[in-house]
Amino acid sequence: MIQLKIEKFTIFKGRFGVNTVLWKDAVFDPNVGRNVYDGVKEVFITHGHADHFGDAHFIRAKVIAPKLESNMVEDPTINWRGLFNWAFLPEDFVTPYFRGKGVRVDDYAENYPFCIPLPGHTYAHVGYLVENALIAGDSVYPVEYWREFGILYYTDPEMMIESLYRMLKLDWDYLIPGHGEVFDRREGTKVIRENIRMIEEIDRTIFSLIPEEGIREDKLVAEMAELMKVRNVKSIIVLRPPISGHLSCLYRRGLIKAEEREGYVVWRRF
Ligand SMILES: [Zn+2]
Repeated sequence: MIQLKIEKFTIFKGRFGVNTVLWKDAVFDPNVGRNVYDGVKEVFITHGHADHFGDAHFIRAKVIAPKLESNMVEDPTINWRGLFNWAFLPEDFVTPYFRGKGVRVDDYAENYPFCIPLPGHTYAHVGYLVENALIAGDSVYPVEYWREFGILYYTDPEMMIESLYRMLKLDWDYLIPGHGEVFDRREGTKVIRENIRMIEEIDRTIFSLIPEEGIREDKLVAEMAELMKVRNVKSIIVLRPPISGHLSCLYRRGLIKAEEREGYVVWRRF
């Protein structure tokens, strides 16, 4: 198993490339797939996606998660429903990242002073600033993920960008993202700025796909799927939340409006 030691932190590369971080008697985002948690007393979770708490159910420790995402940690199918307009999304169509066993949450992350709100990827996502490391979960993605997938999962691009700027202002020497490599301050700063740039670029791309005469929402999703080379049902289902996030932000900025046309939702420029 890949294991990295940085000062008092041990980082395991878990399933789906998740960085599981051991520090003293605490673990953050446990998803190694086997037991490396001897002596662990507290499990900290950054957000309600099962790839970030896959092992929590078998660790005999106190479980801590963001208050408003505790329901998804306790029952991951709530997140599946969110992906499918609150109807029950059959498991066959759920991305493997979101499948996993729930665990009871004992305390809320917000009760801990080193918890930093970093919403955007999900609505109540948090990071943990522990000693000189920022355990950032999915509030920042490795640059190679952007290159590979084109667009990544988040539900509010403006909150995502605000959180990225907040991360730049925090005092850390190491940035430990939810997936991929661990960065020092210099590299981490570059990666954060690149994330901001990518989200802004996607925002412009989506806006450019909305003509004055309007585009059907399903057609817009199809065009983005084409651009991002998404070719399966599971991936299209997880492509819709970030697109909805951009539509919501463009609307709130007064740039686009929606109307009904022959039963379709059509988005058009103001
Ligand atoms: Zn996530």
